Amino acid sequence: MRIDIVTIFPEFFRVLDVSLLGKARTSGLLDVRAHDLRDHAHDRHRTVDDTPYGGGAGMVMKPEPWGEALDGILDEAAAAGGPGPTLIVPSPAGEPFRQPIAAELAQLDHLVFACGRYEGIDQRVVDHYDERMPVRLLSLGDYVLNGGEVAAMAMVEAIGRLVPGVVGNPESLVEESHQDGLLEYPSYTKPQVWRGLEVPDVLRSGNHGAVAAWRHEQRIERTRRVRPDLLGDDDA
Ligand code: SAM
Repeated sequence: MRIDIVTIFPEFFRVLDVSLLGKARTSGLLDVRAHDLRDHAHDRHRTVDDTPYGGGAGMVMKPEPWGEALDGILDEAAAAGGPGPTLIVPSPAGEPFRQPIAAELAQLDHLVFACGRYEGIDQRVVDHYDERMPVRLLSLGDYVLNGGEVAAMAMVEAIGRLVPGVVGNPESLVEESHQDGLLEYPSYTKPQVWRGLEVPDVLRSGNHGAVAAWRHEQRIERTRRVRPDLLGDDDA
């Protein structure tokens, strides 16, 4: 999978060199490239923002640098002849980014992330590219970050680990939280007793049926307690 990230802080994405995603990059499973939006701002100060039409606090990202940066990525993708990319715009005003969306995006060959800053990106950028490629506005959660970089990073990790081969043992992706709408059961390892706290007997019983039943109960109990909304509880 190829992932292009357009940002005014490309250095932010150096962290993708470590751990499983770093290995996936080295092995060629993930081709992640961070692009500096300011390379597409041609005034002396490499300006990427301006005051908002209609007034108000804060600055808005200008459309021209975005147009040049995204056209360059689209042109290169077209020249390579592969399937066209999908544009992801992290935004607190987007649809919630959830596991099914991560799984859907992990099927694609090419994603482009547009990381906003300030009050966000001039709306015409989304409107224009919406005519040329699939565009998704995705929110990490109901809070406001300073920029799209942290959101893009979280999404790249959630999507990237679902790309076949990135996580060594695919079994470990099956019973995770959110995979089927429930949270995961609690996990334990050795020692059997730690600071007076014992591992539940059933996990040491060797009875696979009992272990599976206990884990299922734990998933339901935990989901009901922490995230009743996932069980369709309207009062949540
Ligand atoms: N004025 C915008 C609003 O109220 O919707 C918030 C702009 S925020 C300060 C700057 C950038 O951070 C956004 O353009 C977006 O890229 C990113 N961002 C902030 N919160 C986010 C969230 N919850 N999910 C995804 N991206 C977010």
